[in-house]
Amino acid sequence: MSFPVIPTRKAGFERLRKFLPNSGHRYAKNRNKDYGPDNRENVSLLSGHIRHRLILEKEILSIVLGHYSQSTAEKFIQELFWRGYFKGFLEQHPTIWTAYRRDVSALTTTLDNKDDLARFYYQAVNGETDISCFNSWAHELVETGYLHNHVRMWFASIWIFTLKLPWQLGADFFYRHLVDGDPASNTLSWRWVGGLHTSGKSYLARPSNIERYTDARFAPYGQLTTNSSPLEEDEYYPISKIPATSKKVNPEVVGLLITEEEGYSEDLFKDLEPTAGIALLTTHARSPQPIGIHAKAFSKYAFHDSISRAVNHFKCTLGGPFELDEWGTVLLKFAREHGVQTIATAYAPVGPVAEKLSDARSYLAKHGIALYERQRAYDLLTWPYAKRGFFSLKKKIPDILKRL
Ligand SMILES: Cc1cc2nc3c(=O)[nH]c(=O)nc-3n(C[C@H](O)[C@H](O)[C@H](O)COP(=O)(O)OP(=O)(O)OC[C@H]3O[C@@H](n4cnc5c(N)ncnc54)[C@H](O)[C@@H]3O)c2cc1C
Repeated sequence: MSFPVIPTRKAGFERLRKFLPNSGHRYAKNRNKDYGPDNRENVSLLSGHIRHRLILEKEILSIVLGHYSQSTAEKFIQELFWRGYFKGFLEQHPTIWTAYRRDVSALTTTLDNKDDLARFYYQAVNGETDISCFNSWAHELVETGYLHNHVRMWFASIWIFTLKLPWQLGADFFYRHLVDGDPASNTLSWRWVGGLHTSGKSYLARPSNIERYTDARFAPYGQLTTNSSPLEEDEYYPISKIPATSKKVNPEVVGLLITEEEGYSEDLFKDLEPTAGIALLTTHARSPQPIGIHAKAFSKYAFHDSISRAVNHFKCTLGGPFELDEWGTVLLKFAREHGVQTIATAYAPVGPVAEKLSDARSYLAKHGIALYERQRAYDLLTWPYAKRGFFSLKKKIPDILKRL
């Protein structure tokens, strides 16, 4: 079964219009229900589009608030801001990501040993445990590229506390398969379930809660642990400053780099006239393990949509998408071929794109090519309020909405 909303900007807006009547009180009442993959009318299903920025949070907020008052759509608006919260938090604690990448790498290597960890891990990801709801969700994730939010919470909780598997491998399993796979929302949600985000507070999946919110499709009584003592870790993650907005750039001598962090370049760079463009994909860099077919297909299709809109708008040639491990050489070749001294791209928050850019930046600089990264106003307004809890950002939402 493929993901039901086509990864284009147009299809995203069509989905939003269809979902709009359900974004008010009905969302607040029904959003936690998982009716199964054939009935997703109670949620927007827009996370993949939002993650690839085919549609902007600002655009969604504007359409929803054109239909409902802020108080009626309060819950949906808050959920949208949860994404900005996680992005901002990881931006200020980038070593959480570095540590996660390190651990996934090390744990993946140990999976080659035929020991208990490997056995239990493969039972979990292949949906072959003794817990039928968990098995069904493992299959659903691989077969559709999506899980309902409540299921993601139950799944992560069972993975960590009942199956006692390392949270990093569970996060990696999600990240490899979700069409909305996001370094911030995914890594920090897994840490939240395990009790590492809000210290001392973890999330326990309860059979009665699962029975109630799946309309009794599942009722795993006697199969789940009742103990969710929060995980512990020794690491310290220092706070980093959110980077300042980029300086101005000469609009005529730039090349454009499209990445998975921005699917609406013709808007972000509307004042520029790029001579040429290049699109570089990073789906393969999500994990040392193979990436799910739906996650791969979604990113690729979304990229084709971004590229064709950018080509139409900027009237320039655009190469790619290319999936490369090292970006410096190809970007230098691109700059030389098209005679550009500056490559403009969307600011990449913590994740694979930022990793690739960080390596390429100094290499390009050595050859006289500058990288110009531009941030979205929504991120600049939202991220600074991403503190230990969501509350600091939540209370700023009315103010941010006014400023947007
Ligand atoms: C363990 C775990 C892992 C997750 N991994 C990801 C991930 O990789 N990428 C991702 O986008 N979301 C992730 N989420 C958050 C959430 O589950 C999805 O955003 C949501 O289920 C997507 O479905 P939807 O678009 O129908 O959401 P809706 O309910 O329609 O919400 C609208 C939008 O708000 C945002 N949103 C809603 N809930 C959350 C949330 N709890 N955290 C962050 N943003 C939210 C999303 O952009 C979503 O599209 C994860 C949650 C958990 C518990």
